Amino acid sequence: MQILDGKKAAQAIKDELKISVAQRANDGKKIPHLAAVLVGNNGASETYVAAKVKACEETGFKSTLIRLEADISENRLLETIEDLNTDPDVDGILVQLPLPKHISEKKVINAIDPGKDVDGFHPMSVGKLVEGLQTFIPATPYGIMLLLEQYKVETKGKHAIVIGRSNIVGRPMSILLSGNSNPGNCTVTLCHSHTANLKEICLQGDIIVAAIGIPEFVKADMVKEGAVVIDVGITRVADPTRKSGFKLKGDVDFDNVSPKCSWITPVPGGVGPMTIAALMKNTYLSCDTKN
Ligand code: NAD
Repeated sequence: MQILDGKKAAQAIKDELKISVAQRANDGKKIPHLAAVLVGNNGASETYVAAKVKACEETGFKSTLIRLEADISENRLLETIEDLNTDPDVDGILVQLPLPKHISEKKVINAIDPGKDVDGFHPMSVGKLVEGLQTFIPATPYGIMLLLEQYKVETKGKHAIVIGRSNIVGRPMSILLSGNSNPGNCTVTLCHSHTANLKEICLQGDIIVAAIGIPEFVKADMVKEGAVVIDVGITRVADPTRKSGFKLKGDVDFDNVSPKCSWITPVPGGVGPMTIAALMKNTYLSCDTKN
């Protein structure tokens, strides 16, 4: 079993970006600028946004964090996004999800200028992704593709099982893995909460991507020998021995599954850091194509 080390791979991407940004600065060109909008104070969201802002600092990007109260009106949030859309200095806009219940995530995502949609959630970005056109690829599946690329994991002709069909992870992952690309060219089965015989399907998987949100959902008896297992799940599980009071658990029963795998991602230190590196790449691309 070998570890797909997302922390290391993400660092390599950030190091490359840092050099490119320094070069741009030397040439008197614009520096990439990511604007993050955080509504309310959900603990996990706070952590994710802080990590994205830190990654900007590490790579020399400019970042702006806009904090809004949990009870902000939908209209006020839409106005904030419009301000960012029209600000020529902003290259990428990310609105940290989930949003409070009284705000329509769909409306908010649709309000982002597709040219600054570095999360890749706008319908225009999704449509281009489906067509195989150049676009902003949602950061988590993009990060997974970059990780597979970095470790030269063979995907061509493999049967990939994606568990979870969310718009931010599972569905775009299935599209990317089935694309005529490298990594890609997989035969993909997309599973979800209504899939029958999930265990039997998973046992056919050369590659399994677990994006469910249920800790240790994927057990050893669901995984065939030699499979590549990508664990997207991040769930906070109470752990009184830690200062934070919790630890992070993936969707895969790592201890029992990993001995069967050819490659596996750990949690933490797998997909999470790659998601941030992919977001940085999207923001750099946005800046570079326009300036
Ligand atoms: P989601 O809740 O939107 O989707 C979960 C999916 O799992 C659904 O499509 C559902 O059909 C499927 N599912 C639920 N129960 C199932 C079952 N019993 N059998 C088969 N499928 C089932 O979640 P999401 O936003 O896609 O996130 C999934 C997990 O990934 C979460 O733990 C989330 O925190 C994590 N995540 C991690 C990163 C990262 O950077 N590592 C990024 C995004 C999400």
